[in-house]
Amino acid sequence: MSLAHSLSLAHLDSPPPKSGKGPRPKGMANRFWSKVTRGLDSECWEWNGTMFPDGYGVLGVKGIRGRKMEKAHRISYVMHIGEIPEGMSVCHRCDNKRCINPGHLFLGTNGDNSRDAASKNLLPFGEKHWKTMLSSDDVEQIKRDYSSGVFLQTELASRYGVASTTIGQIVRGERRARG
Ligand SMILES: [Zn+2]
Repeated sequence: MSLAHSLSLAHLDSPPPKSGKGPRPKGMANRFWSKVTRGLDSECWEWNGTMFPDGYGVLGVKGIRGRKMEKAHRISYVMHIGEIPEGMSVCHRCDNKRCINPGHLFLGTNGDNSRDAASKNLLPFGEKHWKTMLSSDDVEQIKRDYSSGVFLQTELASRYGVASTTIGQIVRGERRARG
């Protein structure tokens, strides 16, 4: 299954029963939360249901053309934050694939996950990585582009080849070019 398909609330409901008989399926949200160990807002909320072989949780949903399997963290993102546009992935700040805490999820390009993981694992806070990627001119341009309101942080991130969290820190003034 591609990561890049779009997903919205309209695609999320319990799948239809396999035959016309039997109990009506429980609501999607009920089924979803019955498989989650929910903790404090800051903690990872881990999926206890079925997992994809790649380590992500999975839940059967109605789908656009009938029953389909959807990744649990993507469902969580749509339920709490909003639609996932085509071509975008839902990434984990916490690197915990089982986690569905919406506070740990962000929308990124397919490259963001690996880029984020690389900068977190190899370089604390991605600082050296980030400095080699962006000149001070880039940083000023990013601030101008973002304040123009035309670009999303995720768009600037893919344009400059850095994580969207880095763009967020730049536009909030938490990162400066000189250091
Ligand atoms: Zn988490």
